[in-house]
Amino acid sequence: MNSEVRPNGWTGGRLPAVFVSHGAPTLALEQNDTVEFLRRLGGELGRPEAILCVSAHWNTDKPALSAAERPETIHDFGGFPEELYRIRYPAPGAPQLAGRVSELLEGAGFACTVSNTRGLDHGAWVPLRHIYPEADIPVTQLSLQPTLGPGHHFEIGKALAPLRGEGVLILATGSATHNLGRIGRGEVPPEWAREFDGWLYEKIKAGALEELFNYRRLAPHASVAHPTDEHLLPLFVALGAGLEGSEARGQSLHRGWTYGSLSMAAYSFGS
Ligand code: ZN
Repeated sequence: MNSEVRPNGWTGGRLPAVFVSHGAPTLALEQNDTVEFLRRLGGELGRPEAILCVSAHWNTDKPALSAAERPETIHDFGGFPEELYRIRYPAPGAPQLAGRVSELLEGAGFACTVSNTRGLDHGAWVPLRHIYPEADIPVTQLSLQPTLGPGHHFEIGKALAPLRGEGVLILATGSATHNLGRIGRGEVPPEWAREFDGWLYEKIKAGALEELFNYRRLAPHASVAHPTDEHLLPLFVALGAGLEGSEARGQSLHRGWTYGSLSMAAYSFGS
């Protein structure tokens, strides 16, 4: 990291772009190795000026930003313990950052919309509750466009890269494997999950962009590991935002499993 002073006064150098797997909503209540990792991650990243969260749980036709001053905690899940529905993550919103993100995306040719009412979905607040438990860093969310695939999300990430030098943590949150019809309680993840997760790990470490873009065709068991794309698409935003020159190598931050087949893998890109 360098200590050059940035236009907005940020002197902390360039932050990495981070992808985390958020698992099931119950992660908010658990004590396990993933929670320990997320707690450590907050300390290692330090305190950003603001957080831009790109969650698998906000899908729209065009990129949308949340600009609420006090975003509500959205409990966008059903059938979980009552305790989970009482959790609030009362972080302030980041309307200024939403404006800056719109400016960067519009400048790169992506028309955006802004919502003044959208709150934080569980893809955002579940990991944030562990990474920054004080809930005192402003957060905004950017939506995904699941029909537009990896390349679109990579380009969105590239357009957002300047934020890393402005004290903004880009936190992409999805899941390295995600098939809710195949979750279980086994200690050992099934072969399809391990093979897909292992392929992803190798390609991210190698910065093999073309292969990653074509994961649905090239990765083992891709259609089982991801029946739909939306939980992997945040990864491509982090990849694009973390590009250093033409290098897109990622670092593995954490690997683990929950509910039998949900990978909890996390990666950082850049810096
Ligand atoms: Zn999810």
